[in-house]
Amino acid sequence: MDIHSFKNLKEIHEYFAVHNTCELKKTATQPVYEIEPPKSGIVFIGEAPGRNEDLQGKPFVGAAGKFLDELLRSIGYTREDVYVTNVVKYRPPDNREPLPEEKDACRVWVNAELLHIRPKVIIPLGRHALERFLPELQISIVHGQVFTHSTGTPVFPMYHPAAALYNPNLKDVLKKDFANLKLFLDGEIKPQDTNEGNTKKVLIDEILKL
Ligand code: URA
Repeated sequence: MDIHSFKNLKEIHEYFAVHNTCELKKTATQPVYEIEPPKSGIVFIGEAPGRNEDLQGKPFVGAAGKFLDELLRSIGYTREDVYVTNVVKYRPPDNREPLPEEKDACRVWVNAELLHIRPKVIIPLGRHALERFLPELQISIVHGQVFTHSTGTPVFPMYHPAAALYNPNLKDVLKKDFANLKLFLDGEIKPQDTNEGNTKKVLIDEILKL
């Protein structure tokens, strides 16, 4: 398999749905994914599908997804404008956190999506997605700021919207971070300017390495 040879996202998902080795496949109803590339070039990466996503085969359709929609609307975007995916493509039993081996098993699948889309910005939602792009950094420190990946792709970490459903204080943090994202998308702030004046440029070799 040449990861560069896929013609579209549907082909990517159909290939990996058959060839991935993720153990979660055994208990999940189906893989969860989108097939339309984002016109805006914005890609959000969550953790793992929950119950509603597992039943519908679509990411972020439950309560966290509704909050994500609200946050997008607050900056003038809709779900149709963006692409949403997850670190693992199958629901973990009882919504437990994905295990390292489950994340590893879906890694090439996510890489294939990113290689195909060539995002304008990648937005990891929460700890599991963050560790893939900015390993060893904490979401509580880096959320709402934009970093430049060694591939040149901007990475803009955010708290996971589900976290705000349990901790209402995070709702305002997410709203502020989305406002900052809008400034970045409008070209009003550059990656190194977003950390309140501190220059931060993080170079990671990992992301698209297969
Ligand atoms: N949480 C996630 O991380 N992904 C989903 O698709 C839904 C909820």
